[in-house]
Amino acid sequence: MIASLMERYLKDGKTNWRCLQCHKESHRKADMVRHVEAFHVETMGFSCNQCGKTLKTRESLRSHKTLSHKDFNKMTQKDIQHIDYL
Ligand SMILES: [Zn+2]
Ligand SMILES: [Zn+2]
Repeated sequence: MIASLMERYLKDGKTNWRCLQCHKESHRKADMVRHVEAFHVETMGFSCNQCGKTLKTRESLRSHKTLSHKDFNKMTQKDIQHIDYL
C-alpha cells in the first residue's frame, strides 16, 4: 500500500511535488501524499457511518456524505480518526 502510494507522485524540480495521475502540484510532500490518498488510492473501502455504503477513496466518501447526507460539516472528530486509520 505504501509503496504503491509513492509511485503516484514525483519530485518535480527543487520545490514541487507532482501527482502523476492528475498533474496537481504541491510544494509540500505531505500535501501531495494526502492528495494522492484522498483522490487516487483505492482501498478495501471507507464505509459511510450514516448508511453503510462503501466508497473506495476518502474523497469519494467525502463527496458521498456531502451529496447524500449533506452533513460533511457535521463530520465529527471520531469520523476523521476513523478515516485516517490507514
Ligand atoms: Zn492527483
Ligand atoms: Zn452514506
